[in-house]
Amino acid sequence: MQAGETSTDVIIIGAGPVGLFAVFQLGLAKLKAHLVDILDKPGGQCAELYPEKPIYDIPGLPVCTGQELTGRLLEQIAPFEPTFHLGEMAASLDKTPGGKWRLTTDAGTVLTAPVLVIAAGGGSFVPKRPPIPGIEAYEGRSVFYAVRRMEDFRGRRLVIAGGGDSALDWTVNLAAVASELTLVHRRPEFRAAPATVAKMRELEARGLVKFETGQPSELKGADGQLEAVTIKRPDGTLFDIEADRLLPFFGLTMKLGPIADFGLNLNENLIPVDTEKFETGTNAIFAIGDINAYPGKLKLILSGFHEAALMAQAAHRYVHPDKVLRFQYTTSSSELQRLLKVA
Ligand SMILES: Cc1cc2nc3c(=O)[nH]c(=O)nc-3n(C[C@H](O)[C@H](O)[C@H](O)COP(=O)(O)OP(=O)(O)OC[C@H]3O[C@@H](n4cnc5c(N)ncnc54)[C@H](O)[C@@H]3O)c2cc1C
Repeated sequence: MQAGETSTDVIIIGAGPVGLFAVFQLGLAKLKAHLVDILDKPGGQCAELYPEKPIYDIPGLPVCTGQELTGRLLEQIAPFEPTFHLGEMAASLDKTPGGKWRLTTDAGTVLTAPVLVIAAGGGSFVPKRPPIPGIEAYEGRSVFYAVRRMEDFRGRRLVIAGGGDSALDWTVNLAAVASELTLVHRRPEFRAAPATVAKMRELEARGLVKFETGQPSELKGADGQLEAVTIKRPDGTLFDIEADRLLPFFGLTMKLGPIADFGLNLNENLIPVDTEKFETGTNAIFAIGDINAYPGKLKLILSGFHEAALMAQAAHRYVHPDKVLRFQYTTSSSELQRLLKVA
């Protein structure tokens, strides 16, 4: 192992419901897991796309919301103390000289393990780019789709675009550090939580935030340094806001992303697997949940849970080829109960 690398038994890409339940099944097999997710919170689609919607087809739970299911899974896997690397994209994969998988994230985290589990669902959530010509040249320099450190925006003239929770939350939070802040949305109604909208209106009344109706249509500046954002009003007229940072919050979309370059067989952006172990065509790389494909596949959470259980049996053989994993029930095995910290 090289300096800066963290070694574990299993690396899991994706902390959606299936990646989370994989931690449980791997934990029963005494395998330690590290999870990597581009989102800043666990739960995948359940937490990001429908946290408050009821789910009715989780066995034994007649009804629970996406957020409740995530919370229960986190509680269930807590005894196994998984390590989360959130807000990090699994970016590249290679092998160590010793034959382990080495995964590097876009934040520079390097993980090595004998087994890699891809539980990447529909792919990584990436921000939707607004249709502004030439915006790419400004991205990462004066156009940002996320706020990693509020201090980076201190004393800046900011334009925030969007009408959902992210746009309104960041308007309220960044008003304290920005020298000027203008929120731009195509209409004066917002989709964000009413309490946050009320706070934004209060800041507007105190002159700490400006609000304009319209959409950013052009960026003015040079070498990626923004000088002004041109706004198109609903009636088609244009005006400029002088600014040095634009933060567009137009929602997230899902893209397979770097996993497409991991050298795996792909079929229409899905990873074909066998149905005995849910292993890909590459030894010791498994794919479970929405990301995999096999005859009869149903993209349901419960299918992913079943796949995680069978994957864990096969993963154990890679991590401990010399040991036999005995089949046991959690109801009656004192060994499993000790692992679960209930006995
Ligand atoms: C509106 C809606 C309602 C639904 N209702 C139901 C229902 O009632 N019952 C049901 O069973 N299913 C339902 N589903 C489907 C269910 O949500 C999915 O089957 C489930 O989320 C799949 O879980 P997963 O863990 O495989 O993937 P996901 O939940 O998609 O999680 C994958 C995670 O991987 C991360 N990721 C991907 N690539 C990378 C990368 N390169 N680096 C880092 N992180 C990465 C993503 O950020 C994401 O967090 C619903 C889906 C939607 C959209």
